[in-house]
Amino acid sequence: MQWETVIGLEVHVQLATRSKIFSGASTAFGAEPNTQACAVDLGLPGVLPVLNEQAVAMAVQFGLAVHAVIAEVSVFDRKNYFYPDLPKGYQTSQMYHPIVGPGDVEITLEDGSTKRIRIHHAHLEEDAGKSLHEDFHGMTGIDLNRAGTPLLEIVSEPDMRSAKEAAAYLKAIHSIVTYLGISDGNMAEGSMRCDVNVSVRPKGQEAFGTRAEIKNVNSFRFVERAIAFEVERQIELIEDGGSVVQETRLFDPDRDETRSMRTKEEANDYRYFPCPDLLPVVLDQAYLDHLRGQLPELPADKRERFQNELGLSAYDANVISASRDMAEFFEAVHSECGDAKQAANWVQGELSGALNRENLSIANSPISARQLGELISRVLDDTINGKAAKEVFQALWNGQGKSADEVIDAKGLKQVTDTGAIEAMIDQVIADSPAQVAQYRDSEPEKRGKMIGYFVGQVMKASRGTANPQQVNGLLKEKLDALL
Ligand code: ADP
Ligand code: MG
Repeated sequence: MQWETVIGLEVHVQLATRSKIFSGASTAFGAEPNTQACAVDLGLPGVLPVLNEQAVAMAVQFGLAVHAVIAEVSVFDRKNYFYPDLPKGYQTSQMYHPIVGPGDVEITLEDGSTKRIRIHHAHLEEDAGKSLHEDFHGMTGIDLNRAGTPLLEIVSEPDMRSAKEAAAYLKAIHSIVTYLGISDGNMAEGSMRCDVNVSVRPKGQEAFGTRAEIKNVNSFRFVERAIAFEVERQIELIEDGGSVVQETRLFDPDRDETRSMRTKEEANDYRYFPCPDLLPVVLDQAYLDHLRGQLPELPADKRERFQNELGLSAYDANVISASRDMAEFFEAVHSECGDAKQAANWVQGELSGALNRENLSIANSPISARQLGELISRVLDDTINGKAAKEVFQALWNGQGKSADEVIDAKGLKQVTDTGAIEAMIDQVIADSPAQVAQYRDSEPEKRGKMIGYFVGQVMKASRGTANPQQVNGLLKEKLDALL
């Protein structure tokens, strides 16, 4: 039997407002426990929530970025449940009239192909506090700092058909919210978490299978691993004659498995009702137009422009446009050196490698876009060869010089393209290597090409890496063949 996987994601994005969604308390990460929850966040009697306008603007900007219908009127509802980290006894959310209606996102897969994933809706809600189990023996600590932090929950249609598509979708959402600057997107700090809904069905069958919902998965890699495990579990279960029950599961990255948490609640378990303390949110056209006017160029537009106008491959355009910081760095390098392909290669290759090794983000790159662009220009105009370029890169990275030119001068890396000078070095190497020359002469013509490498190496060494490698190759071949 052939199976098909069906996946829908609910992504919780923490909005980058400075204060909470209904109070003036700070949202800063990492403060001492319980120092940033005020009376409103705690739901003390007699307090009233006041909606943070910034959170509304951010939700609308997201909606506009995913071509969604923005609700003229949206309403906050109370979702009632009891949990120690929920001091109010209910979460203020939007159940029936969310602020962002249907929209869509384009995802790009590794082979460069694209697919549209529909968004069902996105709604505003507040986050709960956090239970701390590790630091307390036989007890649970509660940190309410996070209570009331604004979240945008983005609910997709069940349009994804593989773990790779789900990860690509999550990456697309991550790009959009970070481009918009409405979230820092920091998954390790919980600024973006997702619930993964997974089901399987026999290939060709139209009706969906019963889904399991895996809660709070907080990395791209974990999304893929959790789905892989869950798909296998469900298929095995069905093939053994059982059936999938609709339930909430937890992904355990240490064991690489999902485990049952609880059976799924129904909406009526939560006794939703409109929050009597908050007015409906009414948005007019002028406000939407104002926000539309502030949208930056979005990842999909950048990707298209990089491909169509700058001639980057689909793969390069996708990788570079995924992060706004990287895209902007790349554009600055490109405008300095004028060669998009080279700029893309250096940004994704040497630069990304060095940043990864030192665990730095591109925003904190020790080498500036301007320095890198200038370095590339010196390769393009043949001032230095590729090997010297890497040395210049390292020197700039280490702060040994302000510009590529300065490093090239200081280290004497200017490429030798003077034929006479290269010939002199070649003659010297040939004179110094009688054994290798004899070997070259005596070997089969088709093997000589490979043997030439030794001589090239010697000449490059003699020039301290500065000879033009193409010239060295050509001249060497001429001179050696003249000895035959
Ligand atoms: P709930 O509100 O109970 O969590 P929804 O119907 O709103 O349920 O769906 C939540 C998420 O589950 C959505 O992202 C949706 O795309 C996804 N989903 C719904 N049915 C399935 C299914 N059969 N298989 C996989 N995902 C599904
Ligand atoms: Mg759900």
